[in-house]
Amino acid sequence: MHELSIAMSIVEIATDHALKDGAEIVTEIEIEVGDLSGVETEALDFAMEAAIKDTICRHAKWNIVHIGAKAFCPEKKKEYDVSDLYSSCPFCGEYGHELKQGKEMRVKSLIVE
Ligand SMILES: [Zn+2]
Repeated sequence: MHELSIAMSIVEIATDHALKDGAEIVTEIEIEVGDLSGVETEALDFAMEAAIKDTICRHAKWNIVHIGAKAFCPEKKKEYDVSDLYSSCPFCGEYGHELKQGKEMRVKSLIVE
């Protein structure tokens, strides 16, 4: 399962940061998931439960924050919301404008003790 390896890397990142801070436990993890990142948040939620076991994140709560996808139209110099990768630009009708956000998956913040 793809999401399990993602969850494990989230726990690894959280653990690394906590240890660097001299913390003993991680109490909260905020995760940002772009709507076009290809990550299933329900599966990620489930995978997190397994991934935190026997780690210093085992008592952590996690929060998955959705990041809506946005692209930029160079013609109109405007941003617009993107619901999938296959829709055209609402301003000029072109496909494949650069995505400004929506493909990311990252650990946004941590609370450690
Ligand atoms: Zn455009």
